[in-house]
Amino acid sequence: MILNKTIIHFRKKIAGLAGLNETEIQLLLTPNHIHKAELEVNGKTYPAFRVQHNNARGPYKGGIRFHPQVNEDEVKALAFWMSLKTAVADLPLGGSKGGVTVNPKELPIEELEELSRSYIRAFYQHLGSAQDIPAPDVYTTPQIMSWMLDEYEKLTGKKDPGMITGKPLENGGSLVRDIATALGGVYVLEEAIQKLSLSGKRVAIQGFGNAGMNIAKLLFDQGYKILAVSDSKGGVYNEKGLDPYQAENIKKAGGLLGCYCLGSVCSIKDVPSEGFCRGITNEELLELPVDILIPSALSNQITVENAANIKAKIILELANGPTTPEADQILHTNNILVLPDILANAGGVTVSCFEWQQNLANEKWDEQTIKQKLKDKLVTAFNQIWTEYDQNEHDFRTNTYILAIKKILAAEKLKGRL
Ligand code: NAD
Repeated sequence: MILNKTIIHFRKKIAGLAGLNETEIQLLLTPNHIHKAELEVNGKTYPAFRVQHNNARGPYKGGIRFHPQVNEDEVKALAFWMSLKTAVADLPLGGSKGGVTVNPKELPIEELEELSRSYIRAFYQHLGSAQDIPAPDVYTTPQIMSWMLDEYEKLTGKKDPGMITGKPLENGGSLVRDIATALGGVYVLEEAIQKLSLSGKRVAIQGFGNAGMNIAKLLFDQGYKILAVSDSKGGVYNEKGLDPYQAENIKKAGGLLGCYCLGSVCSIKDVPSEGFCRGITNEELLELPVDILIPSALSNQITVENAANIKAKIILELANGPTTPEADQILHTNNILVLPDILANAGGVTVSCFEWQQNLANEKWDEQTIKQKLKDKLVTAFNQIWTEYDQNEHDFRTNTYILAIKKILAAEKLKGRL
């Protein structure tokens, strides 16, 4: 069984609302397989995991995380969320996750490569394009995917580029993968804006990495007003709107975010503490008077402490798990629409799925085709959930979970496994 705070909440709230019986709950909360190993590199050992949660809808799919806090329970919970995410986007895939307890920043490159290869040596019999398809996650990169593919092909003696996604383009990767999470978020957001007839376009974004920076640029290009962005060192706010391309350049040059105030460059350390352009904390960013709030960094950022102060009308969860269950209830009561992570950030796994499909078919799809397919998938998912949301009193997240669960259980029943 998965023992995780969010999953306990799932059992208490969602299972009841979805009308699940005990057998169905057990099935959803019990991973199909838990594989474990100790990886040895240069005299040191690292615990490693591959958890295969559910494959009723297709081969297992889920990233590999290299992080010092990785543990079995976390990997089990993440594998469960992957099964729900692939079901929401209606991808022909199940859910899994992998992890190694390691701080990869402390490893020389040779040891990082050896660790990546030894992960594959430990688990390769459970992986493959028709079995379980890994991808990058926290602190794992396209380069690591390439080493892993190479090791897999050496061990099995056959070419199978679809056994892993998030590869560099030169090794069978897909176009659009680099911005897929952010672009998927934009498609979901635009549907929600239409449904709510929201005219305001002021945005605050917490986190300025792959997800946060890319969505800042995509929205800016479409005429949204980016009022604030932040990273782990703090945030910058400009009442008149920031240019995220400039913020990126300033960060690249000096390691800190910034904007152009009063015609000159300001990084966080020298923007004034008052006025139309100023430095702000991550906590302040969440409570700004904006129309759209996009948490794109860490989990558990919107809590009982700050939920009542949030002024945005829509929260787009690009980060995984940024809102606690208790805060979610407050937001729902305050009529704030929360677009949950398993839908809002599903663009990443959707384009990963496209990469796998291109590899299996020996094809290369162009950028426009991929973007259109991504839009179709996420807009369809959004509208399916919205129809239910419109007809019952549950919050949008609950309706999203119920849609995913129903799809998984329907596949299980038809296979006679339930
Ligand atoms: P990233 O490492 O590229 O960027 C993370 C950003 O968060 C950085 O700008 C970092 O400075 C910032 N950050 C760290 N601590 C912070 C803090 N205390 N306050 C504010 N900002 C802080 O990571 P990413 O790939 O952009 O992922 C961000 C979130 O999106 C994660 O929750 C991840 O699980 C989720 N996500 C990402 C993808 C993807 O394809 N990149 C897909 C699905 C979900």
